[in-house]
Amino acid sequence: MTGGRIKIGNTEAALRRVQAADLASRQSATTILSPEAVSGKVSPARVLMTTIDGAPRVITADDLRRFRARIAEVGKNLRVGITPREALSMSRPIDLKRARDEIKFAVPVFMRGDVLRLATDSGPASKVSRHIFEVQLPQFTAAVARPATAQQAAAWLLSETPIRFNCDCEAHTFWLRYLASVGGWAYGRQETGFPKIRNPRLAGCLCKHGVRAVDTLSSLLIRRHVAKAIEQARAALERPGVRKTVTVRATQQEADRATARKTARRIVVPPQQRAAKLPPPATSRQIETAMTKLRGRPDSAVLLAALEHMLAAVPGARH
Ligand SMILES: [Zn+2]
Repeated sequence: MTGGRIKIGNTEAALRRVQAADLASRQSATTILSPEAVSGKVSPARVLMTTIDGAPRVITADDLRRFRARIAEVGKNLRVGITPREALSMSRPIDLKRARDEIKFAVPVFMRGDVLRLATDSGPASKVSRHIFEVQLPQFTAAVARPATAQQAAAWLLSETPIRFNCDCEAHTFWLRYLASVGGWAYGRQETGFPKIRNPRLAGCLCKHGVRAVDTLSSLLIRRHVAKAIEQARAALERPGVRKTVTVRATQQEADRATARKTARRIVVPPQQRAAKLPPPATSRQIETAMTKLRGRPDSAVLLAALEHMLAAVPGARH
């Protein structure tokens, strides 16, 4: 199967719509990370690794409870973000597989300041034709200041430094954003609330679009795009009075050229992920119990809708 055409126009309007709807559905937004944490040195992913006994593997709800306790100890020394390698190694095997099988391409749309927007194709069962995946590169200014060529600085920025991200899909919005907020790698609205049920989908890191997008960060196409942004930011520094936030847009032709390839990039699965087992799926009774507990509580509409969705997907469910 080859990838279809990914239209990259009108992403800003589409993003604004998704974000407005999302915000309307849930107004409270705080994060467990303090502002001082932004400049800290300790990777939340590393804290998570030690919390989950050393080896990178899929995150579970239990890990998160221990993680939160450790985060409180580490406090101010916490760094924001997660490296692409860490993100891929903490994702669920099923999401890695879905990315390989269903999501063929991620193409840059535009980069504004330190935020890169990518468009991916969507899975065969999806209601929409594309997804927008946002990657924040908090070390962008450091890359601009780095004594290296723009290409080298971009390569460093995209592979060695922590990122924060966001996807407009349901998997990210309803499940993974909560984990990302706790872990400090959520870009955009932080999710602080989650039903306290033993939820099998309360695990993982990247959705299938995210797996494809984050894996593609090391591609020449994206490195070139980011290098262009670094070059322009350097040029802007030389000219006083010029707006410092630069925007670099991709053209539809560039996107078409990237998706015209017959084969997608090969996603390399970390060795420890190959044998990883998934937790058993939630039963309809567990989901119904959670819904009963949530009903009538403020701000529960989004979560109820998500659980409804989940319930409908349980094989043999009445709904
Ligand atoms: Zn997604």
